Amino acid sequence: MNFLEERICRDGIVKPGNVLKVDSFLNHRIDIRLLDQIAREFARRFAGQKITKVLTIESSGIAIACAVARELGVDAVFAKKTASVNLDGDVYVAEVDSFTRKNHSKVIVSKRCLDARDHVLIVDDFIANGCALQALISIVESAEATVAGLGIVIEKGFQEGGYRLRNLGYRLESLAIIDRMDAETGELVFRRDPKAGPVF
Ligand code: 5GP
Repeated sequence: MNFLEERICRDGIVKPGNVLKVDSFLNHRIDIRLLDQIAREFARRFAGQKITKVLTIESSGIAIACAVARELGVDAVFAKKTASVNLDGDVYVAEVDSFTRKNHSKVIVSKRCLDARDHVLIVDDFIANGCALQALISIVESAEATVAGLGIVIEKGFQEGGYRLRNLGYRLESLAIIDRMDAETGELVFRRDPKAGPVF
């Protein structure tokens, strides 16, 4: 098991509805040493990609994006969730369905934050169905910038987002891939071979 899988086993809580809670170390209380390890690992995996910005979605992605951006020596940008958008032409907009909140919203990024010269590493805490990442990809495309890669801390391999985005040709690196989890027993099974097929 890698450092993250060990931590997930120790402190992650499997909830009904295919939700893994990692509030005690990643997205409420944040273990900064773990965050730095995560950031170093992403920087290692995406070394040589000439990344100019790290993009994420608020709120749980922000700490991760900042840590990765610091490792890479570039700025972090986060897409803001908004109920109503004043489409005055100064923002890129994308639609996103939330897996955890079961709602639909828009996210925006100011045009001042991204442009066509950017090589963007998109990061987030989880991928489930891939809606959040798809929205961020669409924002990068609206800016005519390049998606340099996708970095996910925890992929739920039994949901189709990771499979779909890899099939679209994106380089998606997940630091832990969960193939199976059970809220009743608390069992968590990690994917040993990241190239192995999905388990839906
Ligand atoms: P997707 O858009 O891929 O369906 O879901 C990804 C988003 O939903 C992430 O931004 C993440 O914050 C949230 N999410 C999805 N699954 C989980 C989960 O099991 N636990 C937590 N804490 N967040 C999740």
